[in-house]
Amino acid sequence: MTNTVHLADRVGKLGVETAFLVAAKAAAHAARGNRVYPFHLGDMNLPTPGNIIEAAYLAMREGKNGYTPNAGIPQLREALATEFNTTRKTSYSLDNVAVQPGGKPVISKFLLALMNPGDEVLYPNPGFPIYESQIRFHGGVAVPYPILPGEKNFSFDLDAMEAAITDRTRLLIVNDLHNPTSAECSAEDRRKIAEIAVRHNLQVLLDEAYFDVRYEGESVSLIQEKGMVERSVILHTFSKKYAMTGWRVGAALGPKEIIDVIAKLNVNDESCTSHSNQYAACEALQGDQAGAREILSTLRKRRDLTVELLNDIEGVKCYSPGATFYLYPDVTEAMAKAGYSDYQPFLDAVLANTGVSICARTHFGTAHPGEERKYLRFAYSGIDARDIEAGLGKLKVFLEK
Ligand code: PLP
Repeated sequence: MTNTVHLADRVGKLGVETAFLVAAKAAAHAARGNRVYPFHLGDMNLPTPGNIIEAAYLAMREGKNGYTPNAGIPQLREALATEFNTTRKTSYSLDNVAVQPGGKPVISKFLLALMNPGDEVLYPNPGFPIYESQIRFHGGVAVPYPILPGEKNFSFDLDAMEAAITDRTRLLIVNDLHNPTSAECSAEDRRKIAEIAVRHNLQVLLDEAYFDVRYEGESVSLIQEKGMVERSVILHTFSKKYAMTGWRVGAALGPKEIIDVIAKLNVNDESCTSHSNQYAACEALQGDQAGAREILSTLRKRRDLTVELLNDIEGVKCYSPGATFYLYPDVTEAMAKAGYSDYQPFLDAVLANTGVSICARTHFGTAHPGEERKYLRFAYSGIDARDIEAGLGKLKVFLEK
């Protein structure tokens, strides 16, 4: 008898992290012997600080190789609560913390804990593509709100956010220090978002993946606004600040009754986050911060260089954001001049002719009606200064020829 595989209907609703698809094309281009300049993925080519590596090694040597409590080792949960109470003025205890294998799992666990099929969930578009994928996969209705260009940076369209709310809206996702635009909330935005959440009784996911990747100014969390601590789950990750993307350590922080459910999802899913890596995360929080400072300083230099070189290309306009490691220049005129109106043929031509690998607006959601300007996303976390210079030099020649 032949075997017919019947995949579940919901599989058709799963999206992907589209930057990984761009990475696959870049890898194929490199495998053909070409030079690639990787601006596509928010991965990092910087080493994890040595003290963190030593802590993981020591934990392994000391026999930390079994399962841990599902919500994480108490030391790490305590350390995270203390970190948040210091930086976000919360009064969390370890009961408010569930350790996760990275920041990303917090998205699905937040939805599984709080969203019923048919519930509407507001999410940013452009935005991290996993929000829409997970909302739809778990039977919710994904309702986008725009992030728009402003004077000095992109910003959240709060009027559109509130206008999109219906009597079926239950959840709101906010990614302050935003991927891909680097938009950040002003104090006024934070107050307004909290008012919207309270007025419409929404539960909120605060994706703070880039809270600590800040070059100027100070990150202030939405959790500090009135009414937010009791209705919000924070997505925290060790991936970016400590160059630990592949270690897979993060956490969900929030009200105990939600965190208990998230810990129960841990039991049903991964059992626990890597034991030794949790000790490494304790060292990251409590140990010497020289490594983290060094990472930030390297990223700042790369930001300055990339912004300068992008703005030096005819028809490209780029803000210099104070945080994250993403740039989202307006390339409308440059694309038109090069004779392209669609992103994919343009990206293919750029890769083929220059080796520069980048994501475009389309990798972060579907364009809003009437949206006409064209944008690309340049991540500078995985490419060093010499290659930034070489790659953008070639891009300039290609676009200006
Ligand atoms: N949230 C945002 C906005 C991101 O850009 C990322 C990673 O790129 C994540 C969450 C997840 O990070 P990780 O799972 O590596 O901790």
